Amino acid sequence: MDLKLPSLLKDKAYINGEWVEASNGQKFTVYNPFDQSELGYVADLGTSEVSNAIDAANQAFKVWNKKTAGERSAILRKWFDLQIEYAEDLAKILTAEQGKPFPEALGEIKYGASFVEWFAEEAKRVYGDVIPGHGEDKRIVVLKQAVGVVAAITPWNFPNAMITRKVAPALAAGCTVLIKPSEETPLSALALAELAERAGFPKGVFNIITSTNAAEIGKALTDNPIVRKLSFTGSTAVGKQLMRQSADTVKKVSLELGGNAPFIVFDDADIEEAVQGAIASKYRNAGQTCVCANRLYVQEGVYEEFIEKFTLEVEKLKVGNGFDEGVMIGPLINKKAVEKVNHLISDALDKGARLTLGGKSDSDSHTLYQPTVICDATSEMDLSRQEIFGPVAPIFKFKTDEEVIEAANHTEYGLASYFYGNNMRRIWKVAEGLEYGMVGINTGMISTAVAPFGGIKESGNGREGSKYGMDDYLEIKYLCFGGI
Ligand code: ADP
Repeated sequence: MDLKLPSLLKDKAYINGEWVEASNGQKFTVYNPFDQSELGYVADLGTSEVSNAIDAANQAFKVWNKKTAGERSAILRKWFDLQIEYAEDLAKILTAEQGKPFPEALGEIKYGASFVEWFAEEAKRVYGDVIPGHGEDKRIVVLKQAVGVVAAITPWNFPNAMITRKVAPALAAGCTVLIKPSEETPLSALALAELAERAGFPKGVFNIITSTNAAEIGKALTDNPIVRKLSFTGSTAVGKQLMRQSADTVKKVSLELGGNAPFIVFDDADIEEAVQGAIASKYRNAGQTCVCANRLYVQEGVYEEFIEKFTLEVEKLKVGNGFDEGVMIGPLINKKAVEKVNHLISDALDKGARLTLGGKSDSDSHTLYQPTVICDATSEMDLSRQEIFGPVAPIFKFKTDEEVIEAANHTEYGLASYFYGNNMRRIWKVAEGLEYGMVGINTGMISTAVAPFGGIKESGNGREGSKYGMDDYLEIKYLCFGGI
């Protein structure tokens, strides 16, 4: 790979300020999902290295937590500056191991870095409170303190931003971190560690555990009482498992799990804008995000018009190698993902759906999938209940506001939701009625470092980004002064 800073490409894990091999010498291969070519090898750590990493993070906490907020902020800011300086390199690594088109990868790097910038600033504003006492001789003060050692387990769909979104507020608060990135995309995580080292984080503050033994590593992290907090982004099943495992040591837990986002188009919507919003929300990252529109509900008066205009626009999306000019949809992460999408489409067609575009993988590649549009979808189809995680848009017809709110909420998930309409009364009623942590109104793009990202119901808990994002890494302590 042609990089301005070749040392960004690593083959070792990063623990206690050292680049380390597995003690048994094991390594695993990292592949390019577009053509399955080998990108390199990375150390495949086991539980003994995890225990060393936890001890290192615990020692480092004593140093890092003592620094002033201003000192922590300055190092975070340096880390942000380096991410911007080497943004193109980071994006190349990202496209190579994850597949998303290069401009989109560059967008992720800037989005990821924006959390570091934001929390470098927030670090200085962790204010407590003074509360009027409950007795004449009493004074009450509230402090906010770092929770301690934090474990972060992150997925492959945003190999960069899912790390910075957790780690930046943790480091800003004074915590130290152990990151277990996805085994599909460890290189982006290690490149961030190289820049963290250059930014000047003391040893042990920032650690990356690369491994294919996810369950074992997860157990070692959750069983250890030194780890006070777990932050996880990934599948609902694994999130529930980690929450159960964290119960024995009563860790603080933040979970960002699956979604089943409804995208509603009302009769009074601007259809052109709704089409563009639906494309942005549905086909970003080839449909592999937890906030991607999963069910498009279109009101009967504009149903056929929307399908026609939407299909024409989707047809223009070019599929291919993320490094090629003009490509909008890269490969799915692996063959298993393609099989899942194939199953969801055939189930929908068997149950009466109509295919207006796509519907199959590209014959020359095992992981490229044509953008697909399916109409007349119903709640009996598996794709109405499961997260599709592919470039497939199922469209459902509805009549009334009440009916669509009920249908949209008929899921155990509650992450992102979207709707397009122009009636002010309806906008308030629908926004309040949707049981979701986030609602995009006349927009398909809601992710930003300045707003609280997160879900309700089985989509998880906790919020990432914004002024609320610090809370997940802080404990509240109250001091009661008596005898005054
Ligand atoms: P996805 O389906 O998006 O890959 P996963 O939940 O399987 O979602 O993966 C998200 C992250 O969780 C990855 O880093 C993965 O290695 C890790 N992981 C998977 N299974 C476990 C487990 N049993 N314990 C801890 N981490 C796990």
